[in-house]
Amino acid sequence: MTKTLPLVFEAPRRGQPPRHWADLTPAERREVVESAGHRAFRARQLSAHYFEGLRTDPAEWTDLPADVRDDLANAFMPQLLNPVRQTMCDDDTTVKTLWKLHDGSLVESVLMRYPDRVTMCVSSQAGCGMACPFCATGQGGLQRNMSTAEIVEQVVDGARRLSRGEIAGGPGRVSNVVFMGMGEPLANYKPVIGAVRQLTAPTPDGLGMSARGITVSTVGLVPRMHQLASENLPVTLALSLHAPDDELRDELVPINTRWNVDEVVDAAWEYAKATKRRVSIEYILIRDINDQAFRADLLAKVMKRRGTWGWVHVNLIPLNPTPGSKWTASRRRDEDEFVRRLEARGVPVTVRDTRGREIDGACGQLAATEK
Ligand code: SAH
Repeated sequence: MTKTLPLVFEAPRRGQPPRHWADLTPAERREVVESAGHRAFRARQLSAHYFEGLRTDPAEWTDLPADVRDDLANAFMPQLLNPVRQTMCDDDTTVKTLWKLHDGSLVESVLMRYPDRVTMCVSSQAGCGMACPFCATGQGGLQRNMSTAEIVEQVVDGARRLSRGEIAGGPGRVSNVVFMGMGEPLANYKPVIGAVRQLTAPTPDGLGMSARGITVSTVGLVPRMHQLASENLPVTLALSLHAPDDELRDELVPINTRWNVDEVVDAAWEYAKATKRRVSIEYILIRDINDQAFRADLLAKVMKRRGTWGWVHVNLIPLNPTPGSKWTASRRRDEDEFVRRLEARGVPVTVRDTRGREIDGACGQLAATEK
């Protein structure tokens, strides 16, 4: 196991994509439209097409003069995501898309339709610098941070396909967004917060989603967790804990050598106190590695040390083995025992249903096979 510490904070802007409508604030949109020689009110029309109508083809912008349309589209809506491959499963209600970015980087997003909601799982970085050994993305290192618009475009694409009835189950809307695709969202802080603001701004300035439906998942970058708590954005925080003790977590989540179990759980607890939002603790179950009964007991203890007022929910995730990995998912009886021990100690716990297994749904697997 290498112990080199991953690069944590924002990489330089080298290799960044062209500016896009979804990178800008409403005021900036008016400014750029005017400085391109158009009337300021065009900005609102353009926003309505993009965020409300989900229309990026200028031919559909019939309330704008024909000669203006192409001009605006070329200037402000460059194609940032180019589809490479699409895979479906679960009766076509799970759709995974592999995208190529302008510089050739590959990222992926997954749409998951359930009876009562539609969740988009989005990437926030091309690659990832966190080097978790069980994760496909972690093996390739970080290529670069994604821009706000590259993140937003993943959601807009899913929303468009849903609204046009292209996804099994008829027309629908995206209700939830989870930052659980490729990348460590809090290591690309500003663009991720920018994307959350675009998703939650009321239409037509943004997609008009509820912040409560958005989950930011992190390995536990403590200073950024505190910063997130102060944003006044009631997003759900998920902490990828995966081990209740430092000895094992140092191996499974290498950044633990910088911020340990006690520090990351404290930061999660502070987040819950500050936002009144229940924090989700993600815990992958890996056979004979972190699924022992004593670790379930220790996990319960670590949670309850911060109180029993319902600040936390443990989400157990059966490992989705990556190609060549020596690890596999837990035995059923060990999983059941792990759940039983948490429940017996009053810790709310669920086992995540594993959507998209047969399409390599786990973080980074589709991009990894493409390479
Ligand atoms: N970097 C962030 C978000 C991306 S990963 C984070 O670590 O939280 C989203 C979730 O998928 C994390 O909980 C991560 O640990 C988990 N994950 C990664 N690889 C997996 C695999 N092979 N099987 C199951 N879950 C995996």
